[in-house]
Amino acid sequence: AVVVVGSCMTDLVSLTSRLPKTGETIHGHKFFIGFGGKGANQCVQAARLGAKTSMVCKVGKDSFGNDYIENLKQNGISTEFTYQTQDAATGTASIIVDDEGQNIIVIVAGANLFLNTEDLRKAASVISRAKVMICQLEITPATSLEALTMARSNGVRTLFNPAPAAADLDPQFYALSDVFCCNESEAEILTGLTVGSAAEAGQAASVLLERGCPVAIITLGAGGCVVLSQKEPVPKHIPTERVKAVDTTGAGDSFVGALAFYLAYYPDMPLEEMLRRANCIAAVSVQAAGTQSSYPHKKDLPLTLF
Ligand code: ADP
Repeated sequence: AVVVVGSCMTDLVSLTSRLPKTGETIHGHKFFIGFGGKGANQCVQAARLGAKTSMVCKVGKDSFGNDYIENLKQNGISTEFTYQTQDAATGTASIIVDDEGQNIIVIVAGANLFLNTEDLRKAASVISRAKVMICQLEITPATSLEALTMARSNGVRTLFNPAPAAADLDPQFYALSDVFCCNESEAEILTGLTVGSAAEAGQAASVLLERGCPVAIITLGAGGCVVLSQKEPVPKHIPTERVKAVDTTGAGDSFVGALAFYLAYYPDMPLEEMLRRANCIAAVSVQAAGTQSSYPHKKDLPLTLF
C-alpha cells in the first residue's frame, strides 16, 4: 500500500482575458473548482494505477472539506485518517489564468498546517503497514519530518518530493528520504546550480546525493528525468514520450504518484524501468486539461505498463 502524508487544496480557478491590475475589478469568462494539493494529487495518481492508498491529511470542517473527502473516496482512497478541523478552512489555491496562459496564484494552506504529530500517531497503524510513504512540503515541515521518521523506523520506503522548495531545507529531509524527487526549479533552489539540461541535472543530483539521500531524481518536463543513485553513481537520463502538451499542471505529481505505485507494487523492477513508466504516465497527464482530471486510470493505459 501507499500512504501519503500531505496536502489537500481546493483550486478556485477564474479564466480571464488578462490579469487584473491592483484595485481593478474585471470580468472573467469562466470559473471552475478543481481538486489539487500536491499530496492528494500524488495519492490520486497512485490510486488510479491500482495502488491501495491512504491519505493522511487535514481539511476544514466546511463544504470544501466535505467535497474533498468525497473526491478522495471516489478515487478509492482510504480517508480513515483524513481529519477535519474547526481551526482553519480547507486549503485553497485561488488562481487567475489569462488567455496567454499567464497566471497569478494565492495559496492559503489553512487546515493543511494543522496536521500535527498527534494526528500521525493516531495513524500509526496505516503508516507502519504501508510499503511506501510519500511526503511533500505543503504541510508543516515538522509534521513531514515526523512522518518520514515513523516510516523509516517501520521499514516503509520513503519518497520525498521537496515541493514547494525552500533553499533552507532541513538537512534531515535528505537523510530520511530513500528516494528524493524534485523538478528543475526545485533542484535549482536547493542546490544553487542552474538546471536546464540533463547534464546539469546530473550535477545537481550529485549535490543532492552528497547531502545523504541514496537516490535523487530530477524531472525535466518534456525532457523526461535524470536519476543518480549511490548504487549507480553515473547519472542516467530517461527521456519521455513526445506528445502534444495541452496542460502540464500537476505533471510532476502524476510522475511522483506513479513512481510510488511502482516502488510499492514492483519492488524488484529496475529503477530505470520504473522511471520510464512514470514518464509515460505523466506524459498522458499533460495531454488533457486540469490536474487530477487529467490523470490516467489503469484501464486507459497499455498493459505493458503493468
Ligand atoms: P512539474 O509538474 O513538477 O513542473 P515536470 O514539468 O518536470 O514537473 O514534469 C514531470 C514529468 O511529467 C516529466 O518528467 C515528464 O515525464 C512529464 N512531462 C511533463 N511535461 C511533459 C511534456 N511536455 N511532454 C511529455 N511529458 C511531459
